[in-house]
Amino acid sequence: MDNCIFCKIVRKEILSNKIYEDEEIIAFNDIHPAAPVHFLIIPKQHIETLYDIQDDQQSLLGKMMLLAPKLAKEQGCQDGFRVVINTGRVGGQEVFHLHIHVIGGRERLSPMVHSG
Ligand code: 5GP
Ligand code: ZN
Repeated sequence: MDNCIFCKIVRKEILSNKIYEDEEIIAFNDIHPAAPVHFLIIPKQHIETLYDIQDDQQSLLGKMMLLAPKLAKEQGCQDGFRVVINTGRVGGQEVFHLHIHVIGGRERLSPMVHSG
C-alpha cells in the first residue's frame, strides 16, 4: 500500500525505533508513547484491521500475540502490561494497518476507557 505509513516503516522509507523484526512481523516504539513502554507489533503484510484477518492468517495473528509478552519483558515490563487493538472508527483506529499496542511501565496503568 503506497500511502500507508506503517507499510512505509516496513519498507524503511520512514525511520522507526525498531525493537524486533522477522520475515513476517516488525515491532517498533510508538512515536507518541502513552506510557513509559509503548510499542506496536505489526504484520509486514498490509492488513487493514482486525476485521480483515482471514482464517489462514491465524498463525500470523498468534505469532504477533505471542511476541507481546516476550518483547514486553525485554522492554522492562516485568509486572504486567496491556495489549490494545483499536479497530475501525468506533475503536478509534487511526492507522489502518493492523497493529497491536503493547503498553506498560512501572506503575499501574489507568483504567480502561469509557465510551463518551
Ligand atoms: P491507532 O489509533 O491506529 O490504534 O494507533 C496508531 C498509533 O500509531 C498511534 O499511537 C500513533 O502514535 C502511532 N504512529 C502514527 N504514526 C507513526 C509513525 O510514523 N511512527 C511511529 N513510530 N508511530 C506512529
Ligand atoms: Zn500498510
